[in-house]
Amino acid sequence: MTDLTALNDEMTAWRRDLHAHPEFGFEETRTAAFVADKLRSFGLEVAEGVGGTGVVGALTRGTGNRAVALRADMDALRITERGQADYRSQVPGTMHACGHDGHTAMLLGAAKLLAEEGGFDGTVRFLFQPAEEWGKGALAMLDDGLMQRFPFDEIYGLHNMPGLPVGHFETRAGPVMSAEDNFEIVLTGLGGHAARPQSGNEVLVAACALLTNLQTIVSRRLSPADIAVVSVTELITDGTRNALPGLARILGDARSFRPEVSAEIERQMRIIADGTAMAYNVTAETRYTREFVPLINDATLVEEAVAAARTVLQADHVKVAAEPMTASEDFARFLEHVPGCFVFMGNGENSAPLHNPDFDFNDAGLLPGARYHAAIIRRRLPIG
Ligand SMILES: [Zn+2]
Ligand SMILES: [Zn+2]
Repeated sequence: MTDLTALNDEMTAWRRDLHAHPEFGFEETRTAAFVADKLRSFGLEVAEGVGGTGVVGALTRGTGNRAVALRADMDALRITERGQADYRSQVPGTMHACGHDGHTAMLLGAAKLLAEEGGFDGTVRFLFQPAEEWGKGALAMLDDGLMQRFPFDEIYGLHNMPGLPVGHFETRAGPVMSAEDNFEIVLTGLGGHAARPQSGNEVLVAACALLTNLQTIVSRRLSPADIAVVSVTELITDGTRNALPGLARILGDARSFRPEVSAEIERQMRIIADGTAMAYNVTAETRYTREFVPLINDATLVEEAVAAARTVLQADHVKVAAEPMTASEDFARFLEHVPGCFVFMGNGENSAPLHNPDFDFNDAGLLPGARYHAAIIRRRLPIG
């Protein structure tokens, strides 16, 4: 049997090492080497360079031909750390502000636990993905033949959650996290002297009208039963003192939980942009891209994940009624290929928010996280 106190100490040391050496998406070379080295030392088969800097480990016991994947993300963010822990980021302007250092360390811990103790029949695939924050790493691994080279039947993942106490899990069946679409609308007119607006077609007043009109997509164009957000985040013009702008760029993002809703947001946005531009005698060009797909949990596997979590955590600390979140998560890409379940685990009620310069992963979550991963494997790849 694995000494859980020793495992906890080891995971804490790994997590702090990773925290001190954060790497941005697709640049996780040190992290990937660290992961591959540890997995090999536990006796796993390891493939590196899957989808750029991704790492895949395999652990087989018994004769079963089913495979279950566990996934962690490895990338950090371009944020300057404010925390003063002795393991704080040694890379200026980059930090683990989303806790992926913790996700990586706890999945390594699960690999060690399962390699030492077994207790399952089949193959476990350990996926360490790059570039989660960009929503690009999962696709890169899938495009690199992940499902053909390392096939699996189902997949599990988790993310730490500030505000939720450590040792508490939350998840739900169906939509869990939203799609993220990005948009850019460029208004083109004719700028000119601020004192002679009648001589051109300046774009700023049109842009302000357009911002207001875009708010009617959610309030007047979508069903109240559909959850959606349309947020304009930037308005940039080429105007200056005494000069009216002839060019305005409006950027933003939209969240939704169903592809039909995402399509309708784009359709309405184009109608409103073109119609508003026409009313102001300027032209509009709309670019609409899909960055993240919605994360949809399989109802049956949610029950399995909850049952597994309850073998490790206090039963009433595992909740199934979490509201869907209008944040996005690259794990959703894997769920387009196989069913699975994504859960949130508490990072503590006093945790700084994700993507905040004061954020730090709570090491008290490492052991529950590693044990949950092992529990779901033993439940889904049972012996006999
Ligand atoms: Zn993040
Ligand atoms: Zn994250």
